[in-house]
Amino acid sequence: MTRTVYVNGDYLPETEAKVSIFDRGFLMADGVYEVTSVLGGKLIDFDGHAVRLSRSLNELDMKNPISKEDLLEVHRELVRLNEIDEGLVYLQITRGSDGDRDFVFPADDTEPTIVLFTQNKPGLADSPAAKKGAKVISIEDIRWGRRDIKTVQLLYPSMGKMMAKKAGCDDAWMVEDGFVTEGTSNNAYIVKGNRIITRHLGNEILHGITRAAVLRFAREAQMEVEERSFTIEEAQAADEAFTTSASAFVMPVVEIDGVSLGDGTPGRVALRLREIYLDEMRKAAV
Ligand code: PMP
Repeated sequence: MTRTVYVNGDYLPETEAKVSIFDRGFLMADGVYEVTSVLGGKLIDFDGHAVRLSRSLNELDMKNPISKEDLLEVHRELVRLNEIDEGLVYLQITRGSDGDRDFVFPADDTEPTIVLFTQNKPGLADSPAAKKGAKVISIEDIRWGRRDIKTVQLLYPSMGKMMAKKAGCDDAWMVEDGFVTEGTSNNAYIVKGNRIITRHLGNEILHGITRAAVLRFAREAQMEVEERSFTIEEAQAADEAFTTSASAFVMPVVEIDGVSLGDGTPGRVALRLREIYLDEMRKAAV
C-alpha cells in the first residue's frame, strides 16, 4: 500500500509529495514538529501536542497555517487513509520559502510549509524493548539554548543515538554543567523509594507532553514527585530510572554508563506508570 501524506492542503501518494529546495526547513532547520502516537486507530493526547505546537510557532514568530480543528481532521484522515492501528503521525511546519536562500526571514506573506505523514508501527504499545529496559550512556549536552522549542534541529540528538549504538547501548542521556538535561528524544527520570525525580522545566529541556501526563498520573497514584536536576552518579545509585516520550511512552532504563540499576531489570514504578499511562491515554484518545 502506498502511503498517503499531507502537504500544504493536499493528500498525495508519498512519491508525488514535493517541497521547494529553498524551503527554510531544508536549508536552515527553520521549522518545528510534533509526533503524536496512535493506539487502536485513535490519537493519544492530541490536545497536548496542538498546544505545544502553537507555543513553538509563537516562540519563533512563525505563522500557524492551520486551525486546531483542521489539524485534528488531517491527523484523523491520514490515520484512516493509511489504515493505522498502532503507529505515529509526524507533523512539521517550516517558515517556507520565498524562492531563494537568505538569513533574513522571508516576507510576512510567505506561506509556511506544512507536512504530515504516518508511520505504521504494529506492536507499539506491547514493545519488547520496554520489557527488557534500555541501556543508556551519558554524553555532553552541546545543543542550543532553546530546547523548550520543538525544532527540527535534530543532528546532535541523532549523533547521540549513534554514540549509544556504537557503545552497544540504546540511548544517551545528555549532561550539562554536571546535571542530566534529558535523553536524546525523551525526558529522563530516576526513582528513589516512592519518589520520582525529574528535571524541572526551563529552556534546557523539551516540555514533554508525556512528561506532563505521567507526572499527573504519578501524583494521582500517591507517588511523590520532585522536579529538580540530578547527576549521573545519583542516577546510578537510584532504585530505578526511566524515560518518557510520545512514541515510546514510559521506557524503563536498566543501565547507565555500564552500571546496572537495582537487579538490572525494569523497575516496578516504571512498569506501573507505563501501564497507567497506556490505560488512561487509550481511554482519552480521540
Ligand atoms: N525531549 C526531547 C529532546 C525529545 O525529542 C522528546 C520527544 N519529542 C521528548 C523530550 C519527549 O517529549 P514528548 O513526551 O512530548 O514526546
